[in-house]
Amino acid sequence: MRVDIQEKICLSELLSGAQCAAITGHLHPDGDCVGSCLGLQSALNHLFPDLRTDVFLEPIPDTFGFLEGADRILTEPSEKAYDVVFCLDCNTPARLGKHAVLLEKAGKTVCIDHHIAGEPFADIDYIESTASSASELVCLLIGTDDLPKAACEALYMGIAHDTGVFQYSCTSSRTMRIAGELMDKGIDYPRIITKTYYEKTYYQKQIMGRALLECVRMLDGQVVFSAIRKKEMDFFRVTGADLDGIVSELRTIKGVEVAIFLYEILPSVYKVSLRSSGKVNVNQVASFFGGGGHILASGCEMQGSMYDVINNLTERIAMQL
Ligand code: 5GP
Ligand code: MN
Repeated sequence: MRVDIQEKICLSELLSGAQCAAITGHLHPDGDCVGSCLGLQSALNHLFPDLRTDVFLEPIPDTFGFLEGADRILTEPSEKAYDVVFCLDCNTPARLGKHAVLLEKAGKTVCIDHHIAGEPFADIDYIESTASSASELVCLLIGTDDLPKAACEALYMGIAHDTGVFQYSCTSSRTMRIAGELMDKGIDYPRIITKTYYEKTYYQKQIMGRALLECVRMLDGQVVFSAIRKKEMDFFRVTGADLDGIVSELRTIKGVEVAIFLYEILPSVYKVSLRSSGKVNVNQVASFFGGGGHILASGCEMQGSMYDVINNLTERIAMQL
């Protein structure tokens, strides 16, 4: 297998003489972000036992807590000068949130990502926007032969999440080969998928039901939206991370080309998730409003009343339909 990432990033060269490395990823860490960061950490700890590694992320969902290293994730920003800083699943420093401070004193910075490329910002950028996940790229970087089981669990989880359990078009034969190699390491893949992807709490299912019940179709049913306000999230005792998966459910309504899901993060500020069935490039839409992502899955934050936000989004979507 030709491995471009290993030509671009020679780990032994990069880490020769390094004493400490930091690994970080994007805001609202999802399965791929957490999986790629913890997977890389576990792999580096195994391959470079003298290297000290720290992972910096925003607080992660409890369901990822079983992964090795999850209990050691640092959530407070650090101004320490790390010899190498790895930014995973993230294509712009702004998406690192407060952990972007790691870049300032870093000896070397490395970005490994699969989002549609923003402005390159690291000393070494490896961006493959057709890769399924950052976790797939970490597998290619290290090679699955050299991965300890804990890394395989984390990376398998990351790949499974970003491919919608090997369903989305970002899933390539390479993705499947790599996932197969991880399965051969004896990981409990059915449990990983069930516990981290499909299983939801009672309240998560209830609020998903509410979002589905109240969704509204527009543009001849080609666009569907649903929105959850902060007071509803409080009522159902859920956070933003608990709403993962709702937008995908909306997208699979027959005839829907674009699904829009919003939830209120602050008064009149919404986190927007967009999913496309193929006709519309939702990365273009999200980018127009300062966000980004992938052609078929993207997001942004928007301000205004819920109706302004929906109207502004549908106007941009309609241009592509
Ligand atoms: P989600 O809708 O699941 O939050 O995100 C879908 C995709 O869009 C993910 O790849 C995520 O990283 C990206 N994304 C979500 N929100 C933002 C944002 O505000 N800015 C950028 N650049 N990407 C985002
Ligand atoms: Mn990802």
